[in-house]
Amino acid sequence: MDFSLGYTPEQEKFAVDVKEWLNNSVPKGLLTIRDPAKMSREQWQMRRDFVYKLGQKGWLYPGAPPEYSGGGLNADQCYVLSVELAERGLGLPPLYDVGVLAGPAILAAGTEEQKKRFLPPMFRGEVLTWQLFTEPEAGTDEANQQTNALRSPNENDYFIINGQKIFVGAFPSKPDQFFLLTRSDLQAPRHKNLAAFIVPANLPGIEVQPLDLFPPGTFYEACSPTVANSEGTKHSVFFDDVKVSEKCLIGGDHDGWKVVVAALDVEHSGNFVGVIGRNYTTEKFFAQVKNNPNIIKRIKDNPLLLDTLVDIYIDAQTERLFSIRNSWQSFNHIEAPYTGPQMALFSKNFGGRFIRDSLEVLGPYALTDDTKWQMDDGTFESVQRAGVCFASGGTPEALKINMARALGIGR
Ligand SMILES: Cc1cc2nc3c(=O)[nH]c(=O)nc-3n(C[C@H](O)[C@H](O)[C@H](O)COP(=O)(O)OP(=O)(O)OC[C@H]3O[C@@H](n4cnc5c(N)ncnc54)[C@H](O)[C@@H]3O)c2cc1C
Repeated sequence: MDFSLGYTPEQEKFAVDVKEWLNNSVPKGLLTIRDPAKMSREQWQMRRDFVYKLGQKGWLYPGAPPEYSGGGLNADQCYVLSVELAERGLGLPPLYDVGVLAGPAILAAGTEEQKKRFLPPMFRGEVLTWQLFTEPEAGTDEANQQTNALRSPNENDYFIINGQKIFVGAFPSKPDQFFLLTRSDLQAPRHKNLAAFIVPANLPGIEVQPLDLFPPGTFYEACSPTVANSEGTKHSVFFDDVKVSEKCLIGGDHDGWKVVVAALDVEHSGNFVGVIGRNYTTEKFFAQVKNNPNIIKRIKDNPLLLDTLVDIYIDAQTERLFSIRNSWQSFNHIEAPYTGPQMALFSKNFGGRFIRDSLEVLGPYALTDDTKWQMDDGTFESVQRAGVCFASGGTPEALKINMARALGIGR
């Protein structure tokens, strides 16, 4: 695989097709929104429509198997697609809630019948899927599920679900289904007492409530390529005697932990849909450093900032190399379970450093979204509000525990 940022001749050939399709398919008027707090419902709907078009083309999950409506693209083609989307200010997926964790889990643990039923609507962009793992008492300690899905005493092929999930979903979507982790056995030992389901979101007894106390705009990682696919607002979801068919159970009724670990491995690898990440936030940062007279002056006045700039550059390249390695491993079916959390941990810590260092370099310009003074549509101001995202996809401590387990150390 080529490590340079340019295209190989083969990639270039594919890029011609991608550019033409995107030029015709990205909705006119779709804005690159840096801050999810500023995304209108109209803009969200444009994005939703584009998700559908991508899905129908097979490019929403470009690396997934074509027999389930994935794109079947190779690593080079996925890379080209993600670069061309990012050139237009779009991430892949363009929305957070297209089922990026459910898809891989069903591929790994679903029956053939379930793959044929659940995957095509997801991969074709027809349904929105939220992942419902976290609970008030089950975050880092994910296995401590208190939401129960117990076999119905009257109908053995149904489960009755009761409990609460927290920090889930996205604004302003209305989910079609949930990828749900529950406890399925009150007696069985930890990790062997869980079950995972795909649950229709409109079943009686389900109630969704937004977590209004978390301000939109704080929910994304400081160094994500584009915040437009970030969540906006998170929710609580309550289950009150919700009756779910056994046909929605993914894996066995005591296999939930294995199913969810398959999904989390994908989340930690950062390789949701088979693409190589590229840190557009830092690229935009360096564009300011090179071209913005106000920032150039700041650096000339304080040459010690050069030290900070080089550190940011090295971190961004290191992150990219982790991403290339992880994509290469997944396309070549190479198992190295520590590498997903390794990259996630690096990115998270780098995001934290970037919040601090970009403020040092850009100074007050990084603290305003006043149109007169902001840079790049307020990108760097929203980076300053991104700290809360240390928890999403696992805290740094949780990722270290995952790495230690994968390496077989500490236990
Ligand atoms: C933006 C965002 C999006 C999210 N999206 C989703 C979603 O779509 N679906 C979903 O299910 N969840 C989601 N979450 C929830 C997320 O997965 C949890 O916040 C995360 O797992 C941490 O759990 P917690 O918040 O309960 O914190 P806790 O687990 O209570 O952790 C609190 C603190 O204690 C530390 N800690 C806890 N246990 C240990 C330990 N054993 N060793 C050392 N330190 C420890 C943690 O590192 C942390 O600093 C989201 C969260 C955020 C912020």
